[in-house]
Order: sequence, then structure tokens, then C-alpha cells
Amino acid sequence: MSLPPSYSLSRPTLDFLARRHGHFIGGRWVPSASGETFRIHDPASGAEIGEVAAGGEPEIDAAVRTARAAFEGPWSSYTSHRRGEILWKLADLIQQNFQQLVELEVLDNGLPLPLAQYVCGMVVPEFFRYYAGWPTKIEGATLPAAPGGKLPGQHLSFTLREPLGVVGAITPWNAPLPITMLKVAPALATGCTMVLKPAELTPLTAMRLVELCQEAGVPDGVMNLVNGYGATAGAALAAHPGVDKIAFTGSTAVGRQIVKAAAGNLKKVTLELGGKSPVVVFDDADLAQVIPGIARACFFLQGQNCMAGTRLFVHERIHDQVVEGVAAVAKAFKPGPGLDPAHDFGPLISEKQRERVAGFVAAGVAEGAELVCGGKAPSRAGWFYEATVLTRTHDAMTPVANEIFGPVLCVQTFGDDDFDKVARSANSTIYGLSGSVWTRDLSKAIRMVGKIDSGQVAVNMHAALDPMMPFGGNKQSGWGREFGKEALDSYLKTKAVTLTW
Ligand code: NAD
Repeated sequence: MSLPPSYSLSRPTLDFLARRHGHFIGGRWVPSASGETFRIHDPASGAEIGEVAAGGEPEIDAAVRTARAAFEGPWSSYTSHRRGEILWKLADLIQQNFQQLVELEVLDNGLPLPLAQYVCGMVVPEFFRYYAGWPTKIEGATLPAAPGGKLPGQHLSFTLREPLGVVGAITPWNAPLPITMLKVAPALATGCTMVLKPAELTPLTAMRLVELCQEAGVPDGVMNLVNGYGATAGAALAAHPGVDKIAFTGSTAVGRQIVKAAAGNLKKVTLELGGKSPVVVFDDADLAQVIPGIARACFFLQGQNCMAGTRLFVHERIHDQVVEGVAAVAKAFKPGPGLDPAHDFGPLISEKQRERVAGFVAAGVAEGAELVCGGKAPSRAGWFYEATVLTRTHDAMTPVANEIFGPVLCVQTFGDDDFDKVARSANSTIYGLSGSVWTRDLSKAIRMVGKIDSGQVAVNMHAALDPMMPFGGNKQSGWGREFGKEALDSYLKTKAVTLTW
């Protein structure tokens, strides 16, 4: 199948797509030992957009050994200043390759063009520039200790912060370039080396990023990439005894498998997993701000977003007005291929994902939810599904208790005396990633923020992200934090040193 004629792609994108994509090991592209490949598709049309080598144990093993050699070899002699310069240069290169990265990200994942432009032009370069400042600021401490009864003047005790070693990064398909960036930036800033296994549905921009790392001055073997399926390449990376840490983003179910696989050599693990974030709206909130805010919180990336605010708790006095307003926003979306700026609502990633979403909506309706809008696929090519609002839901309903990862908002109401009950409901899932509270009363807001068990909670907005703000999940939404200084800690180890004389 060929791409729709309305797509006008730049020459660098067409050239990139025409390649037979292999694995990036030791600074060059290599095919799979088995010769096996898989095909990737544009979710907005179903058209095939590339053929990619399917790696497994042999490629993972080669990449891990290469990363180890680079870690112990040339990369270890790079100064912190030089690593900072490389990260800065990488940000420049991302901006210079803006058009190609935008097109590849949209083709791979289906996101709307303005969002891809914002991500590739602002979010990703800013993130690398933030981390470019860190290598020169990673410091240990001098300690006023008395080891073995040594007196002051007889010793010097201090800590060194050292890179952890070889990091295996495994990423999902829902935000391919940003999530790859979350792993690559702290790894390079701290002096680690990496084997990256991108999602098999969306490998394009990660492949381009490792080339740009090389162009920015990262030496051969520091950034490696193995394409392939989770059960083969991903599992081999998670279990490999030569890997010191797995940085994983994906589903909670696979996160559990990663933990088991990592047990062999007790490698460190950070996990960014699923979410089912609550949105709590009090009746004094500014509805002009609330209605578009709630719609964005849930329908951003068609709900294929771990932070998505998919459970709405709205005060009963404003329920009808809010639901009507959000449904109007949902019905006004223009679904279609992201490369055409006339569209503002992309497809789901695959037919399988669309069936999964439809199954949750059907289950909710069968359990007594009321379908306000959406609930079906528009009649057009590609894996689109309408923005959907279900009301009259409760905590135990299938679409409320489970992460759908699609554009489905589940609405519940509360009354004047239900403050604690709402907080309990907000915390009633296995997840604890994000959340938001909407009210003009900041004392009420901060009391609710204190009760919501999530890694981040915003007031009068949803999903407040910034490179310096730690991001991660409580409960079964994850282990550890990405973004900011906290991410660096999980790529470093501390050595306590004592000099005596
Ligand atoms: P997924 O767990 O199916 O796959 C994620 C990655 O893991 C892919 O690269 C896949 O190939 C790999 N994988 C699959 N099985 C594996 C195994 N046995 N061993 C090793 N690797 C394996 O997730 P997905 O469907 O790609 O992404 C959607 C999920 O990601 C959602 O649950 C979403 O909430 C979550 N997510 C979380 C965050 C966050 O920051 N918390 C961000 C984005 C997405």
C-alpha cells in the first residue's frame, strides 16, 4: 500500500523511509543475523512506511558488549564539559533536522502536525539543553566523618558520583521521540552508555536520534539501538547480565516482567508505567477554563497518553454544563492524518488498539454507563476512534478501573459533603501517575492535592511538565522519577572514599 497522495514529504524523509532499517551497533547500521524483518505502518492510513530488522538475543548481546567496551574505553575519558557540549550540539541538530523529525514522528505515531512541531521544535531541544547544563554540576560531598576513630587532620572522606554503566532503554509507541529523549539525555549527561530498544510500532525517530547523537560527537558504541519485538529483543535486553540498569516506559503488565527479568543480575530498574488519572472539578471552578482543560487532559494524543485525565469527578451542580461542554469539544474534533493541518485528532496506533478501546466502551455501556458522545470509529481509512464521553459511571466499572489508553472520558459526580469520598475514589485504581484539581479556592485545592496519591498533581491545569520537574508514578504506575535532577540519580552510583595518612 502506498502513502496517500495528500502527504507531501520532504526529500530527507523520503530518503530515510526508503532505507532498509537495521540495528545501530558500534556506530554503524547492521542487519539481523537471522535476516528477519517486520513492517511498520502509518496509523492514519494503514499504509506501509518501512521495513525494519527484527533483532533478538544475538543483536542485543553484540550491542551490550559494544556499549560495555565504549563505557570502559573512550567515553570514560570525555570530560564533563565535553559531554555538556555534545548534549547542546544534539539540541541544535534536532532543530536543524526539524522538518524530517516532525514528518517521521507524525507518520510513525499519527499525532497532529502542530503537536509534532511543538515536540520537535521546542520540547525535545529544550530538554537536551536542560541536561547539557548538568554534567558539570554532578558533585559528591566532603564528609565530616570519623572512620575507624580517625581524628580530623588524619583523613579525608568524600563521595564520588560515578556513571552506572550500560543502560538498556525500552520505550513505548505513544510518544516515540520524547520518551526516547527522557532516557538518552540523562544517560549521556552522566557518562553512561546505552542500548535502546524502541517500540516495534514506532521506531523511526529513535533511529534518527541515534544518528544525530553520533553527529553531535558521541563516540562509536555509546548509543546503540536494536530494533525488534518486546518478547524477543526487549526480553533479551531486560535479562542481559551485562546491563546495569533498565529504564523502561510501557504498560504495568510488561513492567512486572521487566522486574522479574532484571532479577538475574539484580540490575537497577526504573519504570514509567500506566495511569488512570483523576480530574476533580469543584463547583466554583472557572468553567471557561475547565471545559477545554478537561477535554485536553483526556483527549490529548487521542487518550494514548499515560497522564491522560480519564476519570472526571465533577460536582453535581455543574455536571450537566461540564459534560455538555466537553461533549461539544469532542464532537468538534476533526479526525484525519496529522500531516494535514486541517486535522486536529489523530488515529489510534493500530487496529488492535482500536478494538481494545471499543471493547472497554461496550463493557461500560453494558454495565450501565450512559454514552454521551463518540463510541464508534468514523468511516474513513486509518485506525481512528471518536472522542467518547461516558457518564453515570462508578469506580468498579470496567472502563473506570482499567487503563484504556484511548479517547474515553468516564464521568462521576459528587456532592457538597463528599470531599473525602472523592479523594478515596480518585485513589481507587492500581495507578498513581498524575491528576488535577480545578477550583478557585486554593486552600481546598491544596487539601485535595495532599490526598491524591499520584506522582504529579496540577491545579487548574492537567499534566504540567517541564524538564526540571520530576515525573513518575506512585503505586503501580512506576518506580523512580524521570526529568530534572532526580532522573540523574538513577543513572549514577555513589562511592564513599576515605584517604588516610
Ligand atoms: P508495552 O508495555 O506493551 O510495550 C512497551 C515496550 O516494551 C515496547 O518497546 C515493547 O516492545 C517492550 N516489551 C514488550 N514486552 C516485553 C518484554 N516481555 N520484555 C521486555 N520488553 C518488552 O506498552 P505500549 O503498549 O508500547 O505503551 C503503552 C503503555 O505505556 C501504557 O500502559 C502507558 O500508560 C505506558 N506509558 C507510560 C508512560 C509513563 O511515563 N508513565 C509514558 C508513556 C506510556
